[in-house]
Amino acid sequence: MSLNINEIIRKKRDQEELTKEEIEFFIKEYCSNNIPDYQASSLLMAIFLNGMSQREISDLTLAMAHSGSILDLSEIPGIKVDKHSTGGIGDKVTLVVMPLIASLGVPVAKMSGRGLGFTQGTIDKIESIPGFRTNISTEEFIQNIKDIGISIMAQQDDIAIADKKLYALRDVTSTVESIPLIDSSVMSKKIAAGADKIILEVTCGSGAFMDTEERARVLSETMVNIGKQVGKQTIAVITNMNQPLGRYCGNSLEVMEAINILKGQGDEDIVKVCTVVGAYMLKLAGMGDNLGNNFKLLERNLSNGAGLKKFKEFIERQGGDSSILESPELLNMAKFKTEVRSLENGTIYAIECKNIGQAIVDLGGGRHRKEDYIDNTVGIEVLKKIGDTVKVGEPLLYIYSNDERKAEEQARMLQKSYKIGSVDVPKIQEVIDVIE
Ligand code: URA
Repeated sequence: MSLNINEIIRKKRDQEELTKEEIEFFIKEYCSNNIPDYQASSLLMAIFLNGMSQREISDLTLAMAHSGSILDLSEIPGIKVDKHSTGGIGDKVTLVVMPLIASLGVPVAKMSGRGLGFTQGTIDKIESIPGFRTNISTEEFIQNIKDIGISIMAQQDDIAIADKKLYALRDVTSTVESIPLIDSSVMSKKIAAGADKIILEVTCGSGAFMDTEERARVLSETMVNIGKQVGKQTIAVITNMNQPLGRYCGNSLEVMEAINILKGQGDEDIVKVCTVVGAYMLKLAGMGDNLGNNFKLLERNLSNGAGLKKFKEFIERQGGDSSILESPELLNMAKFKTEVRSLENGTIYAIECKNIGQAIVDLGGGRHRKEDYIDNTVGIEVLKKIGDTVKVGEPLLYIYSNDERKAEEQARMLQKSYKIGSVDVPKIQEVIDVIE
């Protein structure tokens, strides 16, 4: 019997398992534009609602990985470790860890995506550096790594084609927060991007696609297993995303904060996550199993400016204006600054963190439709976090925007996203677990 997309959608809608052939058919035909977006969206929603078995996830991941070319990085000496985050609010770990690790001699080959759902992506962030080119060829990517040990490129049209198309479609069809869809998206890209080993930052909490620790663990284990299946050792670091990471959220603002972290001036929470992820990357790269030593190396290169120097080289190599390192005000910034004030007296015990990401998207910093232009300048500065005590009228956040009226609307919504009361609040643990 010949395969047909209607029947595949029906099967998943009725909670039946799809065969390998059906999954491969969907991916191949969707990439050849023989399946329209409306049918692909239906299938995504059915997968979102009904899930997939381990076998289906693995078949989907491999079909997506092979939907385009597989990068061959073998001409670059050393163990290439790729890093990926499942996305969060204020998560600029990739921006910091890439040059930091490269400054220790580990080749960094990073293929990255754009913003997804309520989160901002590394490519959108780094493109806020004036002149920075992310649309580079594979040849240029490889040459940069050979010459200076680090490069980043936007997901190329011919690599993991299925993920590129499905990622953009999921972003605008409310089908992001799904274990099989995140797993196949992340791991297909990582397999296609050609690195030898993979480190994953799996975010968990009110500002992440995985809202509970249990779901974050299932996602981590599924991805680590797929890594094993394809011979690429994978480690997942589960991190806490119940509040924004660091102080700033939004594309330009996060680049500015990453520069400060590389100058040794980062907030404790973000520095902690960067050094844990970095320490495991060094381990994967064969630089040492002693995590304590790895931390020391990373802390040294944060405080002596070696990571920052590598960031400068990296920016210049890809056409960016490195004077932003000395003068971050050269990054484009938004026109208006609006205060969000506390409505109550007490201790902050929770933050609906997703709302902070969504506010940035609604202010123009993310996409509602696939073709939307991104305003890199908008964002949020976080003044108060979980455990802080506040008084009525005290500022919790600043919103940076180019539309004061919209910012006022968001301010009213964000005020209610802070949960304040007279309760004891345990200290937030930034790194929840590591799955090897
Ligand atoms: N990052 C990805 O690359 N894909 C997802 O689905 C989620 C986060």
